[in-house]
Amino acid sequence: MTPKSRQSELQYPLQEPDTTASLESRVAILTDLLTPCWVFDIDNSSVAWSNKAGLEVWNAESQSELQNRDMSADMSPAVTRRLKQYQEDFITGQTFTEFWTLYPKGNPVTYFMHYSGVTLDDGRLGMLVEATSEDRENDSATLRSAQALMHTSVMITMYNDSFDLVYCNPAARAVINGNTQSLKEHLVNDGDWESVVNALEAQAEYTAEFLVNTAKGEAWHQLNFQRSPDSTTGRVTLLVSEVDITMRRVAEERAHSLAYLDTLTGLPNRTLLNEALDREITFARTSNKRLAVLFIDLDRFKIINDSLGHGVGDELLKKASQVLKNKVRSTDTIARLGGDEFLVLMPGITDTSTAHEMATRLLESVGVPFTLGSHELRVSSSIGISIFPDDGGNGETLIKHADIAMYSAKEAGGDCVTRFNPGMMQDLKKRLQLDVDLRRAIERQEFELYYQPRVSADSGDIIGVEALIRWFHPERGLINPADFISVAEETGMIVEIGHWVLDEAVRQCAEWNNLGMSLSVSVNVSSRQFNSTQLAEQVLNALAKSNCPAYLLELEITESMLVRETTNVLQTLNELRDTGVKISVDDFGTGYSSLSYLKDFPLNKLKIDRTFIMNEDQKALVEMIVSLGKMLKLGLVAEGIESSEQRDWLSALGCDEFQGYYFSKPLPAKDFLIYFQKHTDTREALATLH
Ligand code: C2E
Ligand code: MG
Ligand code: MG
Repeated sequence: MTPKSRQSELQYPLQEPDTTASLESRVAILTDLLTPCWVFDIDNSSVAWSNKAGLEVWNAESQSELQNRDMSADMSPAVTRRLKQYQEDFITGQTFTEFWTLYPKGNPVTYFMHYSGVTLDDGRLGMLVEATSEDRENDSATLRSAQALMHTSVMITMYNDSFDLVYCNPAARAVINGNTQSLKEHLVNDGDWESVVNALEAQAEYTAEFLVNTAKGEAWHQLNFQRSPDSTTGRVTLLVSEVDITMRRVAEERAHSLAYLDTLTGLPNRTLLNEALDREITFARTSNKRLAVLFIDLDRFKIINDSLGHGVGDELLKKASQVLKNKVRSTDTIARLGGDEFLVLMPGITDTSTAHEMATRLLESVGVPFTLGSHELRVSSSIGISIFPDDGGNGETLIKHADIAMYSAKEAGGDCVTRFNPGMMQDLKKRLQLDVDLRRAIERQEFELYYQPRVSADSGDIIGVEALIRWFHPERGLINPADFISVAEETGMIVEIGHWVLDEAVRQCAEWNNLGMSLSVSVNVSSRQFNSTQLAEQVLNALAKSNCPAYLLELEITESMLVRETTNVLQTLNELRDTGVKISVDDFGTGYSSLSYLKDFPLNKLKIDRTFIMNEDQKALVEMIVSLGKMLKLGLVAEGIESSEQRDWLSALGCDEFQGYYFSKPLPAKDFLIYFQKHTDTREALATLH
């Protein structure tokens, strides 16, 4: 604040009736005035004209001596900047007053400087300065504080009781938007304005950070508001000091997004979710409301990721997250937990059906096909729901229970919504027990291989078998692979189990071969085995140990293992081919293989998935797979033949081999031997009849 209000002795702005007249003639009237006056050329940091009293202030002999003086050396960058700002402000007719201490004749004299704009002879805008001397006895502290106000980089403004701008210091004038004349306009968000008004009604001082309008666009400022009386008018004014904190805010926001947002999808991450969950649980508890946690997992995402590559997988996750985000309510939080797992937090619900309806809507929206580059993908998802307080009293339990419910939805085939129930804990315990039991199963010799015949379409002879594992659990009895292979794959146990299967199948194959039954044995290889072990080496060892010819062994891999972008796959397949074994693609048609990469791999057969053969309406698809196989010169095996009609149809289509209950279910080795004998005898008997 200025210590004392002074009126200029001149009229501001200086009346310039004829700006075409020379500067000299326009200011001639000031020549003999006792008040020192001069015209400052801001651009050239020099004095363009001075009256006599002005020459004295500057300690100059003559006009020309003063005109030739370069003032820039004595001017700090802050002063230079401020003068430039004044020059701009003069255009709108503004005038300013500042305190200055100058040293005419070596003695310090403090002046009130009144500045106004004046047009120089060449048309540029200069500054007319009128220096009113100030009594040295003035309160020096006040003078210093006034000077500080001029020079500080803190932006200081004053607003009247209608919140209109009445004063701003040079730092504020340089930054605050020229058009922003009221405090309300200075703040970007209306909500902020309301909070300022409310705070100032309750207290005399208030500090907060706001997004504000400035001459250079929006910025973050910290504003301190103080209600105080105006020293000139005595009316209540608002003194505002502000500092630019944009850099700090940007850094903070960046740190926040790194810590709290998922980098791929931009959704909140687990940390942010946990915070929101804790907050909402506290609120739900006090307000007697419920809260739902929806655990979402995309079905078969791993297959997409493995077969189409991570790039496509990432794009899919981004699209899915966008779709989910658009569907939830504005009060809900949607987070990505990692991988293909998302979680929606729905606070403030009274009825659990709200959560079910939302889950169904999310399921439908994710189920709409996505176009990703050249692929059109349809993904389903599985959603598990848990409700506070019914299914858990804290965030950790609610997430865990929603996860268990999601898992149960997956077990039910996916593409559905399941609410948690305590019985699911039993299922989980069973799975964990299964894992413990599996680890002991090999050493306790609880596994056995069953063999299902593969029959030649041409001759009707049994030409091979598929080895299928069975587990005889000491308490639970026979367990089918569908009930333990996925657990073994998840835990990695499949590698050890697969190794055993390979050795045992090859041993059996060699034994039959020694009996004169030249049967090829096909063995299922899981992706974990394919990726994590020296498979070719294992195969060679198994063959060598049993002295089994390599051409009798076939390995069944699934489409998802044929990852397009992985050179390792091709390398592993080539190594396997070099051992002399054959390779079939099992369950063909259920993955995402494309013609373009199938042809690049050393494959021998396609096994058409039995679900296609089972369904009448998939006939066209089966025909397509057969013609694809023929085009790629691959053998075709039809799985799951249960009737003579199916056999005849597939035979007519041109399949090479059949497998299915129509011929035989998988049998223990000794039963298979009997079956084989019978089958061969029957065929020989039939042959003699013809
Ligand atoms: P898969 O390799 O596609 O094997 C064919 C499955 O279809 C077998 O089920 C077989 O019993 C069944 N099947 C064959 N013909 C018919 C039919 O006409 N009707 C019906 N309804 N089913 C038929 P299984 O033995 O229960 O094996 C299921 C899956 O478990 C196998 O599917 C395979 O993916 C996996 N599996 C089995 N043994 C092993 C193994 O040693 N290692 C690995 N990694 N996976 C295995
Ligand atoms: Mg198989
Ligand atoms: Mg199969």
